[in-house]
Amino acid sequence: MISVHGLTKVFPGGVRALDSLDLDIGEGEFFALLGPSGCGKTTLLRSIAGLETPTSGRIGIGGTDVTALAPGRRDVAMVFQDYALFPHMDVAANIAYPLRIKKTPRARREARAAEVADRLSLTGLLGRRPGQLSGGQQQRVALARAIACRPRVFLFDEPLSNLDARLRLEARTFLKRLQDELGVTTVFVTHDQGEALALAHRIAVMDAGRIAQIGTPAEIFHRPATTFVASFIGSTPMNLLPGTVGDGVLHVAGAALPAPGDLPEGEPIVYGVRPEYTDLSATRREDGFPGEVAVLENLGTASLVTLQGPDHLVQAVVGEGHEPAVGTAAWAVPRRGRALVYHDGRLAGQA
Ligand code: ATP
Repeated sequence: MISVHGLTKVFPGGVRALDSLDLDIGEGEFFALLGPSGCGKTTLLRSIAGLETPTSGRIGIGGTDVTALAPGRRDVAMVFQDYALFPHMDVAANIAYPLRIKKTPRARREARAAEVADRLSLTGLLGRRPGQLSGGQQQRVALARAIACRPRVFLFDEPLSNLDARLRLEARTFLKRLQDELGVTTVFVTHDQGEALALAHRIAVMDAGRIAQIGTPAEIFHRPATTFVASFIGSTPMNLLPGTVGDGVLHVAGAALPAPGDLPEGEPIVYGVRPEYTDLSATRREDGFPGEVAVLENLGTASLVTLQGPDHLVQAVVGEGHEPAVGTAAWAVPRRGRALVYHDGRLAGQA
């Protein structure tokens, strides 16, 4: 549905926001663009919308090359972080505005606005102005306005980021259900990895104008292709520890661990294991990272334990009631098959 080929955007002043980027998004997909601030997510979204002119490369929507088409002719609807509602118009007029621009007859656009408002539980608010609405209601009006034009593509730029944490979770579930029902191809920009994992069918993780990895939430979470993706994804960051390979064994932070095949002997590697897949032992283990319990953080149904080793920090999640005492010795043992080994920054195997 959306194809991006060799897309480069260099802003005046020389900032290369997008660097020869390739991407294909399928019909009906909910696709997230995820990455740290400044990696080029918004520039990519705005380029698809036609609000930025690429320096080079092509963009196609539904099989048509739209690179040179004006935004209004691309059949896309964009929802911005600040919603961009018209403060002097009521909700009904805001929702119907794009239809007015398209010169849809008044009766048809009023009927369409009422229908969409009903779907988003806004019927009782049609006569209010945006200033008389809560943040969550404003967000729904912005969505309603996007839906009312029945576009082929939705483009969302952090549409949940102005909501408080609780409302954000509600809005997330709502948005996912809505996208499922409507089946409209959706590109969603976020810097919140939890949001991307929860919402998207597929995610592109971006780094400095390029794509570091594209995959389903499960692929991105369980097999991050690079140490950059590994460090970015996960609500508790992955343990990433330097080590070496010798005699078919990984030597990492005081532990000897099984090595995946095909790793060159003597080479430096990075060993990655999520705290959720790291167990604690109170007795010495050859395959455990030694340390002293330095910090305990309550996660609600579990606790995050930080072990301080001679030259490393390692974290483990332990179940309720299994927390060790601060100051005691412990060994953090990666679960078999759950660790990832990186060579030259790229995933080289699982161990
Ligand atoms: P954020 O999450 O902070 O919004 P982002 O990933 O969406 O970040 P972009 O807004 O796409 O990042 O910006 C990518 C790079 O391009 C940044 O280095 C930014 O400073 C630069 N940039 C963006 N817009 C312009 C502009 N109009 N002129 C010059 N540089 C720009």
